[in-house]
Amino acid sequence: MQVFTSVVVLGVFFAVFIISDIKSYKERKAESMNSLAQVIAANSVSALQFQDNETATGLLKELCVNSPDIVHAVIYDVNGKLFARYSKPGVDTAVFVNLRNKNTTVFAGNQLFISNLIRAENELIGTLSLQVELSELTAIKRGRAKLVTILLLAAVAFAFLVALIVQTYISRRLLNLVNTMIQVRKTGNYVTVPDNGKDEISTLIQAFNKLMVEVKESQQKKDEFIGIASHELKTPLTSIKGYLDLLNSIEEKSANRLFVQKSLESVQKLERLIKDLLDVSKIQSGQLQLNLKSFVIDELINETVQSLQAVSPAHTLTCKHEVVGQRIYGDRQRIEQVLINLLSNAVKYSPGETEVLISSKRSGDAFIIQVRDYGIGIPDEDLSRIFERFYRTSGSASHISGFGLGLYICRDIIYRHRGEIWAQNEETGTSFFISLPIQHETELLQPAEETIKIK
Ligand code: ADP
Repeated sequence: MQVFTSVVVLGVFFAVFIISDIKSYKERKAESMNSLAQVIAANSVSALQFQDNETATGLLKELCVNSPDIVHAVIYDVNGKLFARYSKPGVDTAVFVNLRNKNTTVFAGNQLFISNLIRAENELIGTLSLQVELSELTAIKRGRAKLVTILLLAAVAFAFLVALIVQTYISRRLLNLVNTMIQVRKTGNYVTVPDNGKDEISTLIQAFNKLMVEVKESQQKKDEFIGIASHELKTPLTSIKGYLDLLNSIEEKSANRLFVQKSLESVQKLERLIKDLLDVSKIQSGQLQLNLKSFVIDELINETVQSLQAVSPAHTLTCKHEVVGQRIYGDRQRIEQVLINLLSNAVKYSPGETEVLISSKRSGDAFIIQVRDYGIGIPDEDLSRIFERFYRTSGSASHISGFGLGLYICRDIIYRHRGEIWAQNEETGTSFFISLPIQHETELLQPAEETIKIK
């Protein structure tokens, strides 16, 4: 746009410049030729009065010789009859415009035609007509066109260069801002963008930075609140559970025991939620510790499947291991927590279906676990977001109770083991995959720097 505007403005400016230059050249030429015509008209009075054709022709010849631009000169008598004429050899006189009995100046193409009345004591006795070639006009036009082309090209190149520099400067900062926004959305790390400018983009960046600081602060407050509230809730809930357990064991009336058991189930749900919230709080403050040991992973899978099967009678959980006795180095309890979450999700999100498949295999230096259900599936656009904190899909899953914390905790635990976790939609239902590195005890398992920061 900048280059286009520059070209248009310069084009108009140069056009006006060329037109006015040509106009002033023509005016100057007409003025000087008119003066000359007046002198010749005055000098040819006596030749006309005495019908001295020879003198008149000589006068015209002399005029043409001394002023090379005058290519054709004619004197008419008062009746319009040709009295004397002189043409430069080789000149096209066919274009000559006959302007008898008037004082006139006419431009036609590269030619100027002038006629001047010849008077003797105020009495009209004839007309002098001149055909002048505007030889410089073509040269002026060519010269100006060349100059304008060079200037225009230089101006366009300069405008393009300036536009490019400005554009790069603006685009770079805007792209940087957009990339940061994408990163913030992906990782949940509320980072700011450094910028020292004073223009509109800087105002935008400053507004973004301010927003990031405010969001970070409110996130921190929320995390603090979640941490404190979960801690405060944990103690009374533990004692409520203790009393309910006691009541359950001593109550004899079966109707009353049913109420106690219902209360216990609800307390257990609350306990799970508080446990999740405490884990989230630990992840946020970077305090989620791993108790690393070597253990047989397929054994852990079998145990977890068995305990889940016991509480999910409507579903059939089937296990299939390609490798048996594979040891991995990690936190057994935390990996079990991940498996429980994936298996209970598979059961929870496949109402009306009965089958859940759990399989495992070794792939290179990784141990892959797959949990597959035939349930409601996950909308494609949500696949990458279900691991975010508090994220729940908006479709049919929203009618099933949950808090959107389980997968977030799973991801953090798996990342801390330097593993991967991902979901994939099947023709019916969903598959969740975990990939864990097969490490030796001697290898220190340090969580990767970038994975700790993921919130
Ligand atoms: P919660 O199940 O408590 O809502 P999760 O973090 O375990 O929390 O899961 C996040 C979201 O991912 C769920 O709300 C649900 O929308 C979706 N989801 C998880 N597992 C499955 C599954 N097996 N099938 C369909 N949707 C699932």
